[in-house]
Order: sequence, then C-alpha cells, then structure tokens
Amino acid sequence: MKTRIGIIGAGPSGLAQLRAFDSLEKEGKEIPEIVCFEKQSDWGGLWNYTWRTGVGKYGEPTHGSMYKYLWSNGPKECLEFSDYSFDEHFGKPISSYPPRPVLFDYIQGRVKKSGVRKHIRFNTAARWVSFDEDTQKFTLIVDDLVNNKTYTEIFDYLVVATGHFSTPNMPYFQGLEDFPGAVMHAHDFRGADQFKGQNVLLVGSSYSAEDIGIQCYKHGANSVTLSYRSNPIGLSWPEGVKEVPLLENFDGEIAHFSDGSQERFDAVIMCTGYQHKFPFLPDEMRLKTPNCLYPDNLYKGVVFNELPKLIYLGMQDQYYTFNMFDAQAWVARDIMLGKLKVPEKDERLADMEKWLQKSHSNKTHDDEIDFQTDYVKELIGMTDYPEFDLDTVASLFKKWLKDKEDDILRYRDKTFKSVMTGTMAENHHTEWLDEMDDSFERYFSESSAPEKNPEKEVLMQR
Ligand code: FAD
Ligand code: NAP
Repeated sequence: MKTRIGIIGAGPSGLAQLRAFDSLEKEGKEIPEIVCFEKQSDWGGLWNYTWRTGVGKYGEPTHGSMYKYLWSNGPKECLEFSDYSFDEHFGKPISSYPPRPVLFDYIQGRVKKSGVRKHIRFNTAARWVSFDEDTQKFTLIVDDLVNNKTYTEIFDYLVVATGHFSTPNMPYFQGLEDFPGAVMHAHDFRGADQFKGQNVLLVGSSYSAEDIGIQCYKHGANSVTLSYRSNPIGLSWPEGVKEVPLLENFDGEIAHFSDGSQERFDAVIMCTGYQHKFPFLPDEMRLKTPNCLYPDNLYKGVVFNELPKLIYLGMQDQYYTFNMFDAQAWVARDIMLGKLKVPEKDERLADMEKWLQKSHSNKTHDDEIDFQTDYVKELIGMTDYPEFDLDTVASLFKKWLKDKEDDILRYRDKTFKSVMTGTMAENHHTEWLDEMDDSFERYFSESSAPEKNPEKEVLMQR
C-alpha cells in the first residue's frame, strides 16, 4: 500500500507542498499518493481575490482577507521562489512591488507548469480529523460542497496548510453597538472607495492598519486616524493621517481615547489581527498560538510535537513568505518520505526551546528579520531546495523597512535586484500613489502617460 498524504488548503503553503513532491516526481522518483482539499473553487489561498465577505457561495466562512488595490507590501525579490524565478515566469523584468493579480499570476505559473492541479479536490472543506493510535492513521471527514456530500478519507500523514490570516480577532469597545456608521474588520475590507470623504478610525498598529490607512488616504478619505494599543507605527504620516493612543469607548459617533482626546468618526475598521483557527481539528491536535515568529509545539516550525505525523505549514508570522513555505514544504516532504528523521520528543523539545529563547531576545524589526532568516537558512540546509543568498534577502528586508520610514507613500516605487537571477527590477510606468487601477492588464500596458489620481492634488494641498 502506498503512503497516503492529505493536504488541507491549496494556498501558497499547500501548493508548496504539492510542488515539493512534484520536483521528486520530475526526477523519476516514485511519490506517495497525495490528495489536497481546498474549500474554495480555485487555488492561491488569500491571493485568490473574492469580493465576498461573510460567506461564500456554499455558505462557508469566506477565507479571503485581501482587497482590491492590494499591492505587495514587501519587495517581490524577498519572496521569489528559488526554483521558479520572476524572469522565468514573466520573461522580462517587472517592478519590485506588483499588485495582487500579478503576484497571483506568478504563484500560479509554477504550479501550472508542474501539473499538480490533478491532486486537488476543489470546493471541498475539511470538517473533522481523528487519529487512530493503533493503525497510526488519520481519518479525515470532508464535505463536497457542490454535491452536498460528506465522505471520509484515510491518510498516513496530514498537512494543515489553511493559513492564519482569515478568522478575525474582533475586539469590543464600549458603545460600539450604538455607533451609527460602518464597523468592520480588516478581513471584510475590500477597497477604500466607500470611505471617500469620510473620517475613518482604524484600530491596530501593524500591517493592516498601515496599509488600509494609506489606502483610505489614497482613495480620498477626509481623515485617517490610527489607534494603537502597545506602540504606534511611528512613521511620518502625510497630512490627514495621524496616530492616537488606544480607543476607550464610543459615545454615539464620538470616540474617546486613552489620552483624553475625542473625535467624531464616520466609520471604524478593526485592524486587530487574526486568530489561528482550526475548527476541523480536535483539541489535542490543534496548534494554539498567537501570531508570532516561532509558534510553540512545532518542531522545525512544522512538525506538531504531540503527534509528529501531523504537519503544519505557514503558521508563523511572516517576513518571509513564499520561499519560506517552500523551505518548510521540502523539509516536511523529506520527513514524510523518511529521508529526514524526526528525533525523539526530548530532543525536539530542546530544539524548540532553543528557537523560542532566541525569538524572545528579538528587540527590533531588524532582529526579527535576522531571526526568520536564520530559521529559513536552517530549513534550506536540511533538503535539496535550491539554496540562495539569504543574507542579501535579509538586507533587502531591512532596506524595505527604512524606505517605509523615509516615505510611506513612495516606498513601493523603489526597485531591487533579484537574489535568484541578478536581474534589476524595472521602474513601474506609474507611481503607486497615482495608480488607481491594479489590474494585470493595466500593469502590463505600455502606457507611460499615467492617469493621475484625481484625489492626489487635493491630498497634497492639505
Ligand atoms: P492562505 O493563503 O490563507 O491559504 C489557505 C488555504 O486553505 C485557502 O485557500 C483556504 O481556502 C484553504 N482552507 C482553509 N480552511 C479550509 C478547510 N477547512 N478545508 C479546505 N480548505 C481550507 N504576503 C506576502 O508575501 N506579500 C503580501 O503583500 C501579502 N499581503 C497580505 C495581505 C493580507 C491582507 C493578508 C491577510 C496577508 C498577506 N500576505 C502577504 C501574507 C499571506 O499570509 C501569504 O502570502 C500567503 O497567502 C499564506 O499562504 P497560506 O497557504 O499559508 O495561507
Ligand atoms: P497583526 O500583524 O497580527 O497585527 C495585529 C494588530 O492588532 C497589532 O497592532 C495589535 O496590537 C492590534 N490589536 C490586537 N488586538 C487589539 C485590541 N484588542 N485592541 C487594539 N489593538 C489590538 O495583523 P495584521 O496587521 O492584520 O497583519 C496580518 C498579515 O497581513 C501580515 O502578514 C501582513 O503582512 C499582511 N498584510 C499585508 C498587506 C499588504 O499591503 N500587502 C496589507 C495588510 C496586511 P499590539 O501590538 O498591541 O498587539
């Protein structure tokens, strides 16, 4: 009997796992039987944009948290696959911060080429998992959403690649129930158009608050206020955008903040992060962690310590994304093939402890970048995933942070050199602040005469 591997989720992490096995198959090696279950009708995870909020066509909670006008928030040179370059995909240099449809196209290019789609059952949601100690096998119950049928599959290994930026962490502030305007979480934000002319309050001080804040600015909100709990983002914001301490309560449309200040708002967006949520897993198999760089209980960041046949991919907070998921998937592949030995529990605990301690000593963003760089380096050293210069990637990340500090509205106009191919990125034909169309067609149009952002002149005169 062939080993059977079940993968839940066909986002970048699940696709990395499929690609890891495919690379062996291409070398003529025999691979296990693999079935990947994806609840959406297409692959790509968060990159597969949906206008839907709430529920999807079949009543499943909507997975997507991405919005129209989302552009890469880090240089593409930091996420490039080392076995499939941007040059190979596009055949010409492109800019360093492409919009979502362009990155989605890139993600798809590699998996289309390798033909792994045959392993994926779309519109199929994982419902429940159990593990039999005697047979050492997983039973996975899934729902075929199109045919409204429930069925069961048995696997030797289970890979959970369901992402962790989908289930909102939604706090309550007193008086919110009587706030007269729109109240939403970043998960349901689909574009800033609706906030034109409005005074918008964003709660949170991380990536969502930063980017949704400048999206609202770009698309003509009257004012943008970011409210922080621990630390402000601390950038030098354009006129019309500011940071204030934590929201305390609402009195109708008036928000009161912890420094005693108050202000009237039209809309509130909670940019308060997400929960790791695995409703299909029993308690003893569930990863329980906040969003951090080294979730506890995962040996090498992938093997569930209480049950090493259970693999988690992409559960870390992410500077590195696509190539880190690859590094993890290659390690997971070799563990599942028995090429890499998982040590005994004590040794696993000691290894995890070492990384946890290291992560606790991170003080700055630069430390965090170095930490994740070391982590990815270690994983890549364990398998035949093509090596690349991770120290240079780390320096690109640090430059990216600096660029944001210098000018949050223009950092996406910068260009970097590919670590994989040495190709220098192109300047995009239109500056990010002027580009109101994020479509694939517009991105690749030859136009050098940008359509100016009608809001920009007004914004700049403030
Ligand atoms: P996901 O992309 O979340 O994919 C998980 C997949 O699992 C989905 O397809 C989902 O439908 C499926 N699934 C979930 N539950 C089930 C179930 N029960 N049964 C079957 N299938 C299931 N990263 C970058 O590198 N650059 C960016 O610019 C960037 N922007 C981002 C913007 C936003 C708003 C967010 C939230 C994240 C962003 N990220 C960005 C980070 C993002 O997490 C990764 O790029 C990447 O999408 C993670 O891949 P994943 O496969 O781990 O998870
Ligand atoms: P996050 O990084 O986990 O940050 C959560 C934020 O919410 C933190 O600032 C946290 O504050 C705050 N928070 C949590 N609970 C709160 C409460 N009760 N009251 C006030 N504040 C609270 O989540 P995120 O910003 O949504 O980012 C998630 C991912 O999306 C990241 O990987 C990011 O790269 C990605 N993203 C990318 C883009 C893009 O432009 N491409 C845009 C958006 C998001 P504390 O610091 O106090 O904990």
